[in-house]
Amino acid sequence: MNKLTLLTLSILTSAFLLTGCGSLADIGGKSVATTQTEQEEVKKDPKESIDLSLKPNESGKIMVLMYHNIGSEEKEWVRTPENFTKDMNTLYEKGYRPISLTDYVTGNINVEQGCTPVIITFDDGNMNNFEYLSDGTVSKTSAVGLLIDFHEKHKDFPLEATFFINGDLPFGQKDMESKKLSFVVEKGMDIGNHTVDHANFSSLPADKIQMEIGSQAQYLQKLISKKGYVVNTLALPYGSRPKDDSLAPYLHAGSYNDLAYKNIAILNVGWNPAYSPYDAKFNNLSIPRIRASEMKVDNVGMYNYIQYFDNHPEERFISDGVSEVITVPAAKAELIKATTDKELYTY
Ligand SMILES: [Zn+2]
Repeated sequence: MNKLTLLTLSILTSAFLLTGCGSLADIGGKSVATTQTEQEEVKKDPKESIDLSLKPNESGKIMVLMYHNIGSEEKEWVRTPENFTKDMNTLYEKGYRPISLTDYVTGNINVEQGCTPVIITFDDGNMNNFEYLSDGTVSKTSAVGLLIDFHEKHKDFPLEATFFINGDLPFGQKDMESKKLSFVVEKGMDIGNHTVDHANFSSLPADKIQMEIGSQAQYLQKLISKKGYVVNTLALPYGSRPKDDSLAPYLHAGSYNDLAYKNIAILNVGWNPAYSPYDAKFNNLSIPRIRASEMKVDNVGMYNYIQYFDNHPEERFISDGVSEVITVPAAKAELIKATTDKELYTY
């Protein structure tokens, strides 16, 4: 092995140690070559590639983060660009990796082993979430610009986020609605439903509930150029649900103007981490979110839970890196729902 090869290997190895989630539990680390061999073995028996020393626990909890605005002054519902980047850095360094909401609710978790999935969401579709500057570039201080920038600097931090849009001027710049929504989807991120009128569902009748959801889904889908893209995730404005229980099913499914809708995920406003999608208690139609802020979070904000999971690693979802196998410590096996078609692997 010549010096250059050695140098390259050592750079690659240290890069892996710095960024790979395996390094959290296993400082000894592995070479990149070992990882590649492991990927080849996946085809034989997926379990062979699972490193139990990383303490995979796919019954653990997952954070679904709720953002609203990015702006120059930090406020209760506003994160500055610097603080948002700090959030991403903290998540990255602590081994969290973004996944899509769809992958979360369908249990298709592909983050590298030893890592913890996290879901990033933005509500209200304000211009500070996604702004085009007069020269045609994406503002680097808008959420989309910041996410792209962070992903380009950290390729192993996937570009995944869902933007929940209410009303008819997504991201606030006229005549750019279709361009923006299509761009978000082309980049691999998602557009979700936040109703026509930022509706408070607590006292709406059935036809109004279906209009608020169905009309908005149809409007957003028409603007997205990707064929077949379905807007089928809903963030409840104010976290509101119908007081009349018999109307609750319309949040999940209904129709408007003879076109049906069906949501695969309904997000609350909340204050706690969400269940693993493999947990028997997981409910895709009532998913709690955590405020991604440091102001007025009453000790249940994002940083409180990051600290909590640092202190209670056994509560945290740790991926085994193999989406078709659910790996959990034996004592947690009873938490896993019986209906899953994946192989349960305990240790
Ligand atoms: Zn809202």
